[in-house]
Amino acid sequence: MPRDVPVTLTERPLPIGASLPVHKLSASAYSDLRHCPYRFYALRQLRLQEADELGAEVDKRDFGTWLHATLQHFHLALSESPTDDGHQRIALMDASADKASSALNLDEGDFLPFSAGWPALRDGYLQWLEKHEQGGSSFKLAELDASQPLGSELTLVGKLDRVDLVRGEGSPVRLVIDYKTENEQVTRKRVTARSEDLQLAFYAALLQDDVLRAAYVNVGERGETRMFEQDDVVHLRDELIEGVLHDMRRIAEGAAMPALGEGAVCGYCAARGLCRKDFWA
Ligand code: SF4
Repeated sequence: MPRDVPVTLTERPLPIGASLPVHKLSASAYSDLRHCPYRFYALRQLRLQEADELGAEVDKRDFGTWLHATLQHFHLALSESPTDDGHQRIALMDASADKASSALNLDEGDFLPFSAGWPALRDGYLQWLEKHEQGGSSFKLAELDASQPLGSELTLVGKLDRVDLVRGEGSPVRLVIDYKTENEQVTRKRVTARSEDLQLAFYAALLQDDVLRAAYVNVGERGETRMFEQDDVVHLRDELIEGVLHDMRRIAEGAAMPALGEGAVCGYCAARGLCRKDFWA
């Protein structure tokens, strides 16, 4: 028989995380806190994790992982055997791509949608690289695990995609690079958002250089690679460090960690079943 069941809505959670200090903070963890304190509480303080699903299909994230590995192999090989010859550079890129594919166990068939665009992507990247080098930059490091203590209890941690050295007037300056494979407009918005986008400022905080540059390099699947530099990243870094210290102090003092439930961030949040956003009064 049909029955009426009364709808019971829940209140938004409002925990306090003072007794769960976080000792290591990555850019993505701090981004969680900025987007939604409850998300930070659930995923970073309680350390709850989504179970990994066994996905058979190669997706955009796999493509990003593969491309990062390919560029790492390429630049390390190019540092060992430097060459300006375009054909040799293409051969080196192809060999690096094969090496990354076999290391990641990628099935050739599944990877076809991405590998079909490889020649255009590769050539676009090499063209950008040539101009980038002509501007005085040279590759120094890839996939660098970096950490920086902040106060007595906290360490900032992260992996830098790449660090270049730029020679010009005066002393050489380090340039932190983060690769992006997203739509170019998304990358452009990241740099215009300034302190709203914390990734480059966070990476800058992992290197304590007094003078530093930082940029996203958008590697386009359709063959265009472009660099989007964040102006005055040292100033943004100082602001970010102040913000991190302030936020961690507030959490330690017992500030509530509300579930904000706002914006696109809820759409891909692993804590959604826990904050029960879909059942709030
Ligand atoms: S679903 Fe939204 S409100 Fe809930 S924890 Fe995630 S970001 Fe916060």
